[in-house]
Amino acid sequence: MTQPGFPPMELIRKSKYLLVSLTLTHALTISTVAAAADLIISNAQIYTVNQSQPEAQAVVVADGKIVFVGDNKQALAWASSETEVIDADGMMLLPGFIDTHNHVFEGASEVGGNCLLSPVKTLRDQRPELQACKNGIKKQGEWLIGYGHQLDALWGDSQNLNPREHLDKWFPDNPVVIMEESSHSMLVNSLALEKAGIDTNSEHPQGGRIMFAQDGQSNGVLFDNAGDIVMALAWNSLSNNFQVSYDGLLAGMDEAVSYGITTIGDGRLYWQRGWYEVWQQALKNDAINVRTSLRPWIYPDIPLDQQLDYLRGIVSLDKDNLLVVDQVKMYIDGVIHFGTAKVLKPYQWSWQLDLPYGLNYVSPKALPGFLSSLDEIGFGAHVHAIGDAGVRETLDAIEQARERGSKQIYSMTHLEMIHLDDIDRFQSLKVHADFQAGAAYFVDTGWASFYVGRKRAKRMLAMREVFNTGANVTFSSDWTVNSINPLVAIANSVRLKNSKGLPNIQAAIQAATINGARALGLESVTGSIETGKSADFVLLDRNIVKAKPSQIESASVIMTILQGEKVFVH
Ligand SMILES: [Zn+2]
Repeated sequence: MTQPGFPPMELIRKSKYLLVSLTLTHALTISTVAAAADLIISNAQIYTVNQSQPEAQAVVVADGKIVFVGDNKQALAWASSETEVIDADGMMLLPGFIDTHNHVFEGASEVGGNCLLSPVKTLRDQRPELQACKNGIKKQGEWLIGYGHQLDALWGDSQNLNPREHLDKWFPDNPVVIMEESSHSMLVNSLALEKAGIDTNSEHPQGGRIMFAQDGQSNGVLFDNAGDIVMALAWNSLSNNFQVSYDGLLAGMDEAVSYGITTIGDGRLYWQRGWYEVWQQALKNDAINVRTSLRPWIYPDIPLDQQLDYLRGIVSLDKDNLLVVDQVKMYIDGVIHFGTAKVLKPYQWSWQLDLPYGLNYVSPKALPGFLSSLDEIGFGAHVHAIGDAGVRETLDAIEQARERGSKQIYSMTHLEMIHLDDIDRFQSLKVHADFQAGAAYFVDTGWASFYVGRKRAKRMLAMREVFNTGANVTFSSDWTVNSINPLVAIANSVRLKNSKGLPNIQAAIQAATINGARALGLESVTGSIETGKSADFVLLDRNIVKAKPSQIESASVIMTILQGEKVFVH
């Protein structure tokens, strides 16, 4: 998760969609074709994202796979009494959308949602919110986990704010950790610090920063990995976290499929919090309705060799499986708004006065060795890189991997600052470039001027420049940071005329489908509508190729189909 400064998505969203029956015609034509068709979608405007057959009217599905793409008449010849025939009534059928970076596991979970702060108020003004959190405490000593504030707003104009002291007054008997809405900082009270062993003598952990007050004690603000360490303690203390996480995962997946998403690249799997077991349970229960590339998190403060055994045990390369595990998630740096993204030239203003260039989660010296060790056990990597130094360090490490002969898939996400000299390296090193084109911070980068100056802010998020080199550009939502709706990213990239947008709607649809499949190593399985691929579709109420951007983003998903099964019906 990444960005700040915009109204948060609702933390908890439950699926609330009514099932409205479509006109289903059970054709009784005797089939002249041998194989049994399970499903035929006819009378559609099919946009296949397959260059050798760009458009079609109908598609035939058997055993979850596409067996025919072509005209209505030939498709209907496959029908038998067992075949379900959907008359699409001229609506648009596309390959299911692929969201290459989505926190579907955390997105709808109530684990972090029992204490909600306001993103626009100072801490002093959050009396009603804090009172509600206090009322939610069931027993003395249990962890209180919250979410939702924004650090800039929290500080407001109160000069001498010490969040730790403030929280101590409200919560003297319970350890408290509250995640900032971008997830890159946490507020904690004294009890939480004590449990995490953070005191006046503590060093900053790898990839994190403790903010100290003048008296030498933490003021209760922990940046990046310093906060993650405390959150992990809190999470693991909860007795019901398995069930709550499980329910959250199902709700998150339901949200995704309601927007036509059939494949997800997982934002991060905190395997030390038991999340992998939750996914496995969902798989066992046949409850997974979105194909997912699970990405185990690389903990920056734990030596890699202590993580490799676990990772070796969960690698899963079967591409026909709904869960694939062959990419890790790691951060090279933090975020611009906290001064933790690693930059080539100093920040103009930063929360970290003594860190003018930001910080590293994984050190650039260690990164080539990390990639090499991970490659040996079957893992590529999806790397969070935001500052221009962080981007360069990651590309340098991947360059070494390629020189060694590594064929692994490497993708980089966020990519807010890319030095001009590094633009063409995505193409030459075969690094997939992932952008959150649906985000408000993507459209207008003015917010960054305060931190990095106007000139650098203006050059940010140069998606088009990377695209023009021939690199594989993908879209992702980073939900819940931004809208989960892939149509917003498609609309924005068509709307933007500057260095950020894509040349046309065709390129945008590719970024939301086949390009994502490539970045996940799934292009032989999904990402386009062609014979032999998985029957993963989204049916839209209108043809977005001919629509204006505003009409693109207001299009409705009528149906989402994964492996030939309806996983969402509007
Ligand atoms: Zn993320």
